Amino acid sequence: HTQYAAEPEFLQVLDEFVESVAPVFEEHPEFVEKNLLQILAIPERIISFRVPWTDDEGNFRVNTGYRVQFSSALGPYKGGLRFHPTVNQSILKFLGFEQIFKNSLTGQPIGGGKGGSDFDPKGKSDNEIMRFAQSFMTELQKFIGPDLDVPAGDIGVGGREIGFLFGQYKKIRGFENGVLTGKPLSYGGSLARTEATGYGAVYFINEMLKTKGEDIAGKRAIISGAGNVAIYAAEKLQQLGATAISVSDSTGYIIDETGIDVALLKDVKEVRRERLTAYAEAKETATYYEGSVWDHDIQADLAIPAATQNEVKLPQAEQLIKNGVKFISEGANMPLDAPATEKLLAADVYIGPAKAANAGGVAVSALEMAQNSQRQSWSFEEVDGMLQDIMKDIYNNAETAAREYGKEGNLIAGANIAGFKKVADAMVSQGLV
Ligand code: NDP
Repeated sequence: HTQYAAEPEFLQVLDEFVESVAPVFEEHPEFVEKNLLQILAIPERIISFRVPWTDDEGNFRVNTGYRVQFSSALGPYKGGLRFHPTVNQSILKFLGFEQIFKNSLTGQPIGGGKGGSDFDPKGKSDNEIMRFAQSFMTELQKFIGPDLDVPAGDIGVGGREIGFLFGQYKKIRGFENGVLTGKPLSYGGSLARTEATGYGAVYFINEMLKTKGEDIAGKRAIISGAGNVAIYAAEKLQQLGATAISVSDSTGYIIDETGIDVALLKDVKEVRRERLTAYAEAKETATYYEGSVWDHDIQADLAIPAATQNEVKLPQAEQLIKNGVKFISEGANMPLDAPATEKLLAADVYIGPAKAANAGGVAVSALEMAQNSQRQSWSFEEVDGMLQDIMKDIYNNAETAAREYGKEGNLIAGANIAGFKKVADAMVSQGLV
């Protein structure tokens, strides 16, 4: 604890992880003997660099860029890039650590990593984003490659940013489209990648519902966030006959009892790049509130937090219980803090943890890598079908592992155990420990 005192988010994720994988260590004394946990807790490599750029007024600006190459036990480092003012080493280490086990759960040959910058894309022009992305990639390109490290998007990094990053990589290293995923379709992007994380989080909650003998049709869902994950979670929920009654951003949220109008939401967020107040102005049944959607008093069955880490703390967990929510699929990474998780588990709320529930994005990213290697592109239906199978497998593996290790119904423990065992075996086999 003292070692990681300056990295609270990383410590938070490490604590949760250590507690749930303890039974695996009891079963495998060789993991203890080989000091596996201590080794795994240190990234293979952390790269941190200067990103100078100029704004539209000609001012010289600078941000810090990072890439945390956490584990290559199962394959090339794989994980997103986040552009957000809160980005620091602790946050990227927490995300990179989670990514190792998430990627393992997908069953695909990918290691874990994460990166980004404390650059704030909000209010920046396209040209400013482009100049920043070019400067960021000028440095990052030295450390990545299709068989080495394959970044993707995350908060603040979508198709536009991936395009600028790829263009700069290509200028320096040549056309290797397998170096980034989440690319636009015309140069190697995969159909269904944009939808994959949100759709996957809904496929996952659907499996959770089925286990409890419930039907997703007719259910009401609270969603937070209004970005990539939230939009496509809302879309899939509505396709399956459920109602997404909210979305949110960092200043406020929308409640729309008739169900979020996904076409309007896409127009506001993806095309016009405006705030959610523009959604409320365009739709009569929608009301905009300031504050957090998790404090809102409203009946619902499901919750999909899809904004950011620690958005649900104890008071918000209590509100969720009061609202009648019984199922949570974590679209965001670590959206529930530890006390909130404990409270919800004690109230018998069934929780789909991030590393399982939001693994659909990285799973389809790995399918994008496969298509790039083959120089082929698969149809939407093909990729979506694979995504559904992968989410089902992840659910079954997490559920089974929880049961086998005496933690029945605790998918948090199950996902950690199932993800960890493969990584641990690979490390031991490769003589890494
Ligand atoms: P986007 O940038 O597309 O959207 C993020 C959304 O969350 C925005 O509506 C944003 O509001 C809101 N948000 C961000 N930070 C905060 C904050 N500190 N407080 C309140 N709201 C906030 O990101 P994604 O949808 O891609 O990512 C959302 C979550 O899902 C993240 O935790 C990410 O790690 C996780 N994830 C994403 C994957 C993907 O494929 N994209 C894959 C797996 C996980 P505002 O516009 O006001 O900032």
